[in-house]
Amino acid sequence: MKNLIEVKNIKKNYGKKAAVKGISFNVQEDEILGLLGPNGSGKTTTIGMLLGLLKPTSGQIFINNLKLEDNRIKILEMINFISPYIELPKKLTVKQNLYVYSRLYKVRNIKERIEYLSEKLRIGELLENITGELSSGQKNRVSLAKALINEPKVLLLDEPTASLDPEIGDFVRTFLEEYKKENKISILLASHNMNEVTRLCKSVLMMKNGEIVDKGKPEDLITKHGRNNLEEVFLKLSRSKNELN
Ligand code: ADP
Ligand code: MG
Repeated sequence: MKNLIEVKNIKKNYGKKAAVKGISFNVQEDEILGLLGPNGSGKTTTIGMLLGLLKPTSGQIFINNLKLEDNRIKILEMINFISPYIELPKKLTVKQNLYVYSRLYKVRNIKERIEYLSEKLRIGELLENITGELSSGQKNRVSLAKALINEPKVLLLDEPTASLDPEIGDFVRTFLEEYKKENKISILLASHNMNEVTRLCKSVLMMKNGEIVDKGKPEDLITKHGRNNLEEVFLKLSRSKNELN
């Protein structure tokens, strides 16, 4: 199976602070890879580098075999994301926002794509609403529609269900599962929700202090660490002091 994301020894320093300390991983076509780690472990910085928003201090990133730094424009067309730091323009209606992003990404059948996503994500009734006035569950579904507007091959999700109630969280997870079944895409999913990760991800990376401290299938990590579930593995790894700080 082809790797759509290849990350080779990337580092990111903010001044003296080493936020990401030389990590490598791949995400295959048709794979959801979970990115776990306590706050401050470097997940958002990693996603920022994959999006081309942050320049790695060193190391290389390839998306669909293209080197990111030399192919920014080509790559942006096949990638999209949800990030807690980038909100949709608040004053536009939902429909206006989806049109703006459709044009940015040069979507061909804009009307059909918006209709399709509106139906799947149940936002049809919100299209004329002002984006800034939506509830967090509504905003989240609209962000997901924006993230899928260009039929991305690579989807980067930075804690996409963090602020959602259990029911909407579950709706979003089911949606992602089904969307991924119908479209062979690569998803990198940063999340603190261990049930979500266990359900959606065939394999996970555990980050801590800017490094990958373990990786593998959720069930293998649970066995290896002698725990009952991924949450306990996460707690064990985040509390262990045997790494350099
Ligand atoms: P996570 O998403 O896993 O919570 P981040 O990637 O946001 O982690 O942060 C990793 C580390 O880098 C943290 O120590 C954080 O304080 C630091 N950091 C993040 N962004 C900046 C920035 N713009 N300037 C300086 N330090 C930053
Ligand atoms: Mg983060």
